[in-house]
Amino acid sequence: MRADICDFEKHQKTPNQQGTPQGGVISPLLSNIALHGMENRIKQIKGASLIRYADDFVILHENLAALKVCQNVISEWLSHYDLELKPSKTKVVHTLNELDKNQPGFNFLGFNIRQYKVGKYQSGKNGQGKLLGFKTVIRPSSDSVRRHYNKISETIGRLKAAPQEKIISELNPIIRGWCNYYRTVCSQETYSKLGSLTHKRLRRWADRRHPNKGKYWVGNKYWTAIGGDNWVFGKEYKDDKITLERHTKTAISRHVKVRGNKTPYDGDTIYWAKRKGSHPELKPSTAKLLKKQNGKCNWCNLNFLDGDLIDTDHITPKQAGGNNSQDNLQLLHKHCHDAKTKSDLLVIKLYKAKKSGEKTQKWFNNLDWNWVDDIPTLLKVGTQTEPEKRGAQ
Ligand SMILES: [Zn+2]
Repeated sequence: MRADICDFEKHQKTPNQQGTPQGGVISPLLSNIALHGMENRIKQIKGASLIRYADDFVILHENLAALKVCQNVISEWLSHYDLELKPSKTKVVHTLNELDKNQPGFNFLGFNIRQYKVGKYQSGKNGQGKLLGFKTVIRPSSDSVRRHYNKISETIGRLKAAPQEKIISELNPIIRGWCNYYRTVCSQETYSKLGSLTHKRLRRWADRRHPNKGKYWVGNKYWTAIGGDNWVFGKEYKDDKITLERHTKTAISRHVKVRGNKTPYDGDTIYWAKRKGSHPELKPSTAKLLKKQNGKCNWCNLNFLDGDLIDTDHITPKQAGGNNSQDNLQLLHKHCHDAKTKSDLLVIKLYKAKKSGEKTQKWFNNLDWNWVDDIPTLLKVGTQTEPEKRGAQ
């Protein structure tokens, strides 16, 4: 056996009276406490490594029997917390070969990790430089690719009659966010596939708007040529170009590895302070929020990765009466924050309308008036009437 993988997901047992409510989502804090102890316990098993992100985790071991031992240890550990491994989400797989009818490889945090047998030129090497005979490939999981495309397709479908700029401004953050999340894995192939699917979907959108025009005319209206690329979805406004982000253009940058025993959300401010170079914005309050949000952006629900630009956002905008308390703050990707800020404009407008209504009401209440013959009548200066003393006629 060469690298077996056990992909667990914790699940709560039928509760006893002290347990968390049935069917409810287990509190992140509780699962963090339980899983942290479990991590330490697994580390005592020789050759086992555990990778955890929030309440999702993977255990790697090259020996299947040892892996089963890990599984038992974990089950026992979790039972102290009235938790158990959910059988439907717990899988023991091999990264290279099929095992018990399970496809090789596993999914973790939206990534698919598996290995392929290869010749000596492509083979990975072990620590001593010895050829392994296989290489490890990490890609976005097919579920994640499908979900992403569905979101694009739904957005276009919803905006049948909307102007082109609207489509671009709604799709750009979706495409940018997704590509950014997967930028560290080799998925140029996935990017081109998504690019061509998106193009086809936009083509249908455009053709349907102009059933009486020719393909060439429609192509010319919605697509433009930029830098040798003849199919850029967008428009030119004087000197400005408004164009759709392209999956294929997302540069694949190298991943900066986070120190092994640390996870980005664990709130260890000293650790993050040390890493200040790559996270200039990270303050203790940010670390606390990261922990609270389980390492995920509240807007796109994808995990923050090392190197992401992270903004602190006021859930209720300050201009709409929101305060600076920790409860009103959340962390968002920079590009998600931009999208949220746009949607805040309406919230602020409504808030201001409400405030000005209240102001008018208050002004009216403070006026010196009283009921005279069933009509609210302004009184002469000097004949003050307290609002509560006004008779309800
Ligand atoms: Zn986000």
